[in-house]
Amino acid sequence: MRTPYYLIDEAKLHANLRVLADVKKRAGCKILLAQKAYSAYKTYPLIRKYLDGSAASGLYEARLGFEEMGGETHVFSPAYRADEFEELLTYADHIVFNSCAQLKAFGARAKAAGKSVGLRVNPERSTQEGHAIYDPCAPGSRLGVTAGEFDSAVLPLLDGLHMHTLCEQNADALAVTVVALEEKFGAYLPKMKWLNLGGGHHITRADYDRELLVHTVRALSERYGVQVYLEPGEAVVLDAGYFVTSVVDVVHNGVDIAVLDCSAACHMPDVLEIPYRPPLQGAGAAGEKAHAYRLAGGTCLAGDVIGDYSFDAPVKAGDTLVFEDMALYTMVKTNTFNGMPLPSIVLRRENGELCTLRSFGYEDFKGRL
Ligand SMILES: *Cc1c(COP(=O)(O)O)cnc(C)c1O
Repeated sequence: MRTPYYLIDEAKLHANLRVLADVKKRAGCKILLAQKAYSAYKTYPLIRKYLDGSAASGLYEARLGFEEMGGETHVFSPAYRADEFEELLTYADHIVFNSCAQLKAFGARAKAAGKSVGLRVNPERSTQEGHAIYDPCAPGSRLGVTAGEFDSAVLPLLDGLHMHTLCEQNADALAVTVVALEEKFGAYLPKMKWLNLGGGHHITRADYDRELLVHTVRALSERYGVQVYLEPGEAVVLDAGYFVTSVVDVVHNGVDIAVLDCSAACHMPDVLEIPYRPPLQGAGAAGEKAHAYRLAGGTCLAGDVIGDYSFDAPVKAGDTLVFEDMALYTMVKTNTFNGMPLPSIVLRRENGELCTLRSFGYEDFKGRL
């Protein structure tokens, strides 16, 4: 198999889906795939057996969810465009607005088309430190209507409320945010049919407190008579994918640097954006094993560096390296900066068979320009 390629592990995806299905059953909630994190739609037939549908960030994801996932299609966008709204109504059944002004402008049309209408609210309760880029409750955030901006004139149009405040968090953070949600918006909840608690719930992680999630969700459903939705992205494909690359050259400048046939900037941008050091099969932290290398991308961006690792044996050109937990926020974020090729997408089926879902070439680079 020619590197680089993303490898989706069907058995692990399946295991995650079973965990989510169990949560659904015990909590009485519905769960949607947030396609923003993962949109490899050729695996949607499996996901559809366990989840209730998809969540979209706009027109294209809504169309993909409608056409390839089926079930319920929910959409939230920070701002809907007037010239797309009509088409959006053909795909989405739940439309969540980000402001009272947009809800007033488009809500009646959505209702007339038979859609369920929601408003994203901002409980203004941050539970994450450090990563303001992923904190919708950070000061000055555009995401969600604050209690101060809430205009009760929109209430007759509303079927549901939506909040999304978490990122890779446990159920304790949800519980804290729910207290703030109830303080600020609890008075409206008895009038609602549904409450969407967004994504960022790391439900399939080994140390995730699923009992607390189930308890929190059940309590909300019972107190307010609402159907609760969760729309995780990461949790659906957590640890269910790899990124397989090869070493092209090894250079030296104070440290040994292995230059790979991939790029953090093009193929795993969260490594630079968050930033973080992705796990690598068989490797340790710098200094842990005998042979230390900095792993770097094949673009001319000086900062295209994946991280410092150590190995039992020297690394040489032609070696294959396997980064872990690479199904989420990778395939959906790739670009061809520097004319870098897009990695193929390969599925390892549960029976071990490898199946190339998609490969790319020069035309995919040229065709966007
Ligand atoms: C990003 C996002 C999600 C999914 O978040 P994960 O961290 O991938 O679970 C769900 N809903 C909304 C509105 C989002 O912006």
